[in-house]
Amino acid sequence: MSAPEGPGKSFGLATRLVAAGREQPGRGGGVNPPIQRASTLLFPDVESLYGEERRSYGLDGMEAHDALARALIDIEGGAGAQLVPSGLAAITMALMAALRPGGEVLVTDSAYGPTRRFCDGVLAASGVATRYYDPRIGAGIAELLGPRTCAIVLESPGSLTFEVQDIPAITAAAKAAGVVTILDNTWSAGVYLKPFDLCVDYSIQALTKYQAGHADVLLGAILARTPELYEQARQTAKAFGVGVGSAEDAYLCLRGLRTMPLRLEHQSAAGLKIARWLEARPEVAEVLHPALPSSQDHALWARDFTGAAGLFGVVLKPLETASLDRALAEMAHFSMGFSWGGFESLIIPCNQQLRRTATPWAKGPLLRLSIGLEDPDDLIADLAVLLAKIAFK
Ligand SMILES: *Cc1c(COP(=O)(O)O)cnc(C)c1O
Repeated sequence: MSAPEGPGKSFGLATRLVAAGREQPGRGGGVNPPIQRASTLLFPDVESLYGEERRSYGLDGMEAHDALARALIDIEGGAGAQLVPSGLAAITMALMAALRPGGEVLVTDSAYGPTRRFCDGVLAASGVATRYYDPRIGAGIAELLGPRTCAIVLESPGSLTFEVQDIPAITAAAKAAGVVTILDNTWSAGVYLKPFDLCVDYSIQALTKYQAGHADVLLGAILARTPELYEQARQTAKAFGVGVGSAEDAYLCLRGLRTMPLRLEHQSAAGLKIARWLEARPEVAEVLHPALPSSQDHALWARDFTGAAGLFGVVLKPLETASLDRALAEMAHFSMGFSWGGFESLIIPCNQQLRRTATPWAKGPLLRLSIGLEDPDDLIADLAVLLAKIAFK
């Protein structure tokens, strides 16, 4: 969906998200878009069958998809948004849109694990090389750019380790070299960071996380800075036939968006309260949360972000792993599971899935917390019990 023409963004986010995606004229009175199940769309004559209609087949998405895409553009800006069935598909399709034969991609060493798997597997087998770089490289990225470089993948803060990247320094170097930049912007939900103000070309959202918000939908989006970049992403997703996810999922995600500002406000504040509590505990070596003034990346975060998600990391002091594993399984409110951004709090040990090649990660044991909608004091009590059960060395 291309960015609609319309009035400026003078209203607050919560106000805009009540109205977003509801501009569709000519409906029969429902507040929400219809959920249409369709492969085949019918046309009255040959001229319109082969005409320029944007929507000609179910794979292009139906009304609920269009409404969701418009709402995403309303949040984050950009010239267009392409929906795809998962956050991971958004990353892989954006990469495919930017690649050239024999090219090379630069990927932050803090990238989401499956992004790495795609680069090391599918791209490597297709003759596209990947070079991982230090997430804190900043303007130094210029030295890594060569004639083969076609894309830079950024993720800020990084998955599991939460380094904040100097996005404008990296996009400036990329722009000078004609290289496409792809930012995994899932942590900010598109709310706390505006990538197109920082000259990012593609912003990736795993809508599975805060947008859907209820641990029951898989969906992704590629938002593009210019109409040309949007068209490239759209044609790539179309060529691969990945589709746009189901109408039910688009509908649920749009429903999630209505309450996202409220959920984010709670999860952000609760996350910071819990991070501060953890920081003061003797069992904790470091809290990886860029909104804490003690964070190495705090100044960079404060420059570019307007808020923090409820997702952060904790490095504990040396401990007996078996005691941690036992204590995690016995928590009252935190559950263990992948994904995040839902209404329920999650906790996972991360060392098992950390992969670094450019900048070794020596800290640990590392936990990742996704703060849900519970009372933060109950979550703190749960964490106090966890820490008390661990056998520290
Ligand atoms: C979860 C996640 C994704 C992938 O989203 P899915 O919808 O689960 O495929 C991408 N990037 C980040 C940072 C994520 O946390």
